[in-house]
Amino acid sequence: MPPDMSEPLPRLLVVVPAFNEGEGLRALQARLLPVLDGLDGLRGGILYVDDGSRDDTWDVMCALAAEEPRVEVLKLSRNFGKELALTAGLDHAEADAVVVIDADLQDPPELIPEFVAHWRQGFDVVYGTRLQRDGETWLKKLTAAGFYRVMDRLSHTPVPRDTGDFRLLSRRALDALRGLRERHRFMKGLFAWVGFRQCSVPYRRDPRHAGQSKFNYWKLWNFALEGITSFSTAPLRVATYIGVLTAALAFAYGLVIVAKTLLWGEPVAGYPSLMTVILFLGGIQLIALGMIGEYLGRLYDESKQRPLYLVDTWQPSHDA
Ligand code: UDP
Ligand code: MG
Repeated sequence: MPPDMSEPLPRLLVVVPAFNEGEGLRALQARLLPVLDGLDGLRGGILYVDDGSRDDTWDVMCALAAEEPRVEVLKLSRNFGKELALTAGLDHAEADAVVVIDADLQDPPELIPEFVAHWRQGFDVVYGTRLQRDGETWLKKLTAAGFYRVMDRLSHTPVPRDTGDFRLLSRRALDALRGLRERHRFMKGLFAWVGFRQCSVPYRRDPRHAGQSKFNYWKLWNFALEGITSFSTAPLRVATYIGVLTAALAFAYGLVIVAKTLLWGEPVAGYPSLMTVILFLGGIQLIALGMIGEYLGRLYDESKQRPLYLVDTWQPSHDA
């Protein structure tokens, strides 16, 4: 059969969010293209999302797209952060399956054929699980482990451990994900929330190829807060329990004081215990208020209903 008469092959699109990755994109593409070429019965493509980079990332992307017809590029109007850059990429992905990969070559593109094999077996979400993390400090590993433990306990949507955004999504998983329009996006949680048939492929996470990590500990802390508050309201309940506990203790203590006064009288004093109780209760109240504030702030953000991101330039591939 002549090629133009046949059904077009299914399309696999690799979505790459990038922020200041000008140095490494060429190397990424050099490793990605052979992998895509090696996929039988699939049309491969790459979608680069420039998340408002301040270096030459966009120029490099445009040059790569000019060289290679399978490459498409999307530029956001400013830096929106990785989660939103990824969302923008997924929204613009016209494909039967998408693979999400970091621009820094920490996730090996050579794993994609294995993802595809699982997808062909009927899995909707195939994610890479890191066996070990080269080039990351023990502190980052420790905090990451702690985070997953807390998430596991608090949230009803189990988020797979040691799993980044490196994964393959089937068309229906992609469509489902596109339906989730919340502003505060904890992508790993959203991927898990979608459900369907999911499986994991273990791999070794390499150190960054070029450039620097964009995530410092403050950002990671905020990221963890986002994860917990997006997927659990348990902290709000914690406030209630602490309140009930302190109230009960205070009541018991009150009884003790009354009994003591009745039996032995009250020779004044009591300043230290008074101070302790006041400060303790004040602290607990502030914590509880803070927790409520975290949720209220997010509610406020959601209620504004702003678009999640703004597109500057969108250049789809002719291949799509
Ligand atoms: N990234 C992005 N927008 C940002 C920060 C990061 O698109 O505001 C991209 C970045 O270019 C990379 C991926 O997200 O492709 C992961 O970032 P990074 O390697 O800095 O994170 P780490 O691997 O250290 O967790
Ligand atoms: Mg990285």
